[in-house]
Amino acid sequence: MSDPDFIEIVNDRENNLKNISLKIPKNRLTVFTGVSGSGKSSIVFDTIAQEAGRQLNSTYDSFTRTFLPNYRRPDVDEVRNLSTAIVIDQKPLGGNARSTLGTVSDISPLLRILFSRFGTPHYGTASNAFSFNDPAGMCPTCEGIGKTYVVKRDAILDPEKSLNDGAILLPGYGPQTFLFQTLVATGWFDLDQPVKEFSPEKLAQLLNGEQSVRVNYKDSVFNVKFEGLERLFYRQNLKVGKGISEGARKKIEKFATMSPCPDCHGTRFNPEALAVKINGYNLYDLTAMQLTDLRTTLAEFSDTRMSNLIDSIQERVEGLIDVGLDYLSLTRETTTLSGGESQRVKTVKYLANSLTNLLYILDEPSTGLHPRDVHRLNDLLIKLRQKGNTVLVVEHDPDVIQVADYVVDVGPRAGIHGGQITFTGTYPELLKSETLTAKYLNRHLAIKDAPRLPEKFITSEPSRRHNLKDAILKIPVGLFTVVTGVAGSGKSTLVEQVFAKEHPEAIRIDQRALHANSRSNPATYMGVLNDIRKLLAAENGVSESLFSANSKGACPQCGGKGVVELNLSFMENATVTCSLCHGGRFDPQVLTYQFKGKNIEEIMAMTVEEATAFFAGTKVVAKLKNVLTVGLAYLALGQPLSTLSGGEGQRLKIAKELNKRGNIYILDEPTTGLHPSDIVTIVRIINDLVDKGNTVIVIEHNLDVMRSADWLIDIGPDGGTNGGEVLYAGPVAGVRMIPRSVTGQYL
Ligand code: ADP
Ligand code: ADP
Ligand code: ZN
Ligand code: ZN
Repeated sequence: MSDPDFIEIVNDRENNLKNISLKIPKNRLTVFTGVSGSGKSSIVFDTIAQEAGRQLNSTYDSFTRTFLPNYRRPDVDEVRNLSTAIVIDQKPLGGNARSTLGTVSDISPLLRILFSRFGTPHYGTASNAFSFNDPAGMCPTCEGIGKTYVVKRDAILDPEKSLNDGAILLPGYGPQTFLFQTLVATGWFDLDQPVKEFSPEKLAQLLNGEQSVRVNYKDSVFNVKFEGLERLFYRQNLKVGKGISEGARKKIEKFATMSPCPDCHGTRFNPEALAVKINGYNLYDLTAMQLTDLRTTLAEFSDTRMSNLIDSIQERVEGLIDVGLDYLSLTRETTTLSGGESQRVKTVKYLANSLTNLLYILDEPSTGLHPRDVHRLNDLLIKLRQKGNTVLVVEHDPDVIQVADYVVDVGPRAGIHGGQITFTGTYPELLKSETLTAKYLNRHLAIKDAPRLPEKFITSEPSRRHNLKDAILKIPVGLFTVVTGVAGSGKSTLVEQVFAKEHPEAIRIDQRALHANSRSNPATYMGVLNDIRKLLAAENGVSESLFSANSKGACPQCGGKGVVELNLSFMENATVTCSLCHGGRFDPQVLTYQFKGKNIEEIMAMTVEEATAFFAGTKVVAKLKNVLTVGLAYLALGQPLSTLSGGEGQRLKIAKELNKRGNIYILDEPTTGLHPSDIVTIVRIINDLVDKGNTVIVIEHNLDVMRSADWLIDIGPDGGTNGGEVLYAGPVAGVRMIPRSVTGQYL
């Protein structure tokens, strides 16, 4: 009998799951815990979210379905009592240069109404006059983007040369070209005079002049207009808001840099819209303020006719402040928000709508939050549940697990050593259990008692970028440094945008996907596939290329894809596993060749751990050993890199670096996706890197990682304009003596 108060999973075999069955209470907050790679995502995303999407789609007719996203049927007998699922992920909000925090949070439309009704002098007939995305409100020069390309003169002209000698560096101006002949036809220029000797008037004509000319070109006569180099460049390349390709952008940026628009100075609005004020503030003034200042300013708008509108605006502003985004302003472009910030903005949006009975799924929402601010996130999760929703969260932060109504622990370990449910129950019950999670929730690392001592430092120039107050980053060479501070205090700005730009030799190891193409896997990434092919080829006296599923060894039926696409128009598009190679991608003929009794397909199915034993005494072992060191022994050699979690991918990147020395590494929140027991591993890996003679800089909120560092740099004291100072730099213990440091209070 099915119980409608529970989501019921029956016999789940997705990825590493061992035929598990599970009941999850509805209208409750459930947290999934377990080591990285244990199978949490396999349950929550690959089973529940997939199946919810698939079940919802199957309620539509097949014609409609062709326009809906495709959901795979997960490898599970049954999932019962699902509601519509909404995954609130950490994918950047994306958007283009026109989407800002104001536009995505729906605050900008309300502010526009406020200004169109109550602003003076009165302007326009509709609220569109206050939209920088509408011709009525936008600055005409930059079309509401706030930035324009500004030509780099030294990149388009070589002043030492004459026009005939090729002074113009822009493409398309060679001596025989139509553009050059147009320029000649003006009769304005001495073609043999070096450009540096041009009078200011001549130079202005060359750059921005305009003249109707007759050009003889390829035996025809053309009546056209000459336009100066800059003028033409701007006319052709200014419309950046229209979305240009990456390639085109690269080409343009050889000759021009993005700079604030010279006419609106980055405000995006035209002068008419900017002239309209309420209480002395124009619309731009309000959107450029940090949210906490906006709240104070709006509270002073006392005209009672405005009060309904102001209340609606304040409610949304409060929502953003409540989740710890108080340091942002509405002008902030969504493309520049971090994954954690994007996820919190999305959550606030969902909270503002009045739908109930939904299933919300969040992946590590504590990412990017300082321990001080985690309670704000908890409030948000609880509010989502209180609106009558089921909330599922994958999370490792003990402070979040603590507010769960129900905990599901997956384990006991990663990959093939995981895939089971090791505990279900309440948080107090979890603490009393024998699980790995319980063990680590009860234990904390101590502050390192003999930290490495600095000898030399690498320093950045004082910076005022974003909120920085002439901050300097001074990194001790050959040490393990942690950079801390609340969200928005300026850590990424100082480390990634200031320090790393000045020291380009620093290597970022982030959690961004590392797969170059769909055929990449741990074997290709660590460079052992070629060695394995050589071994197989030598053993059998055949060509190496036979063991490549992209060339000679490819299955003749599917061309090495492993799947065949069925294109049934007006039906769901589907792929089926290739019937000849059964998804293995190799020509069956190739599989008759073996090394030590195994063919290429069997070898690629081995875990790294198995392969290390199997290839003992060959080159392969040396290259794979580092993968064991970073705790990824359970990955299969042929597992597509696209299936690795962010944390797994990050550790694989580290594995590739482990034999190098003398480098500077920057790691941004390496504990994301990591269970407390994995944290011991990552700390050990970082110490390995340092022992090998590297300098490691880690941006981190995890207290155990902070305590394990040699050197701590705390930025603060708060987010946004109230941050941007280096409050402390020194051995970890010392930060507790700094009264202004929030971090100090938590260590
Ligand atoms: P968690 O969310 O607990 O970190 P996952 O559910 O992502 O763990 O992964 C469980 C195991 O399944 C890991 O060993 C992972 O590498 C593997 N895995 C995940 N997705 C796939 C896939 N599409 N194909 C093969 N293996 C996968
Ligand atoms: P942290 O890494 O400590 O969370 P950040 O360096 O991301 O802090 O942010 C510091 C300040 O700079 C914040 O006020 C933030 O809003 C601002 N900021 C960060 N990136 C940008 C950007 N691309 N454009 C404008 N402001 C930014
Ligand atoms: Zn402008
Ligand atoms: Zn095939």
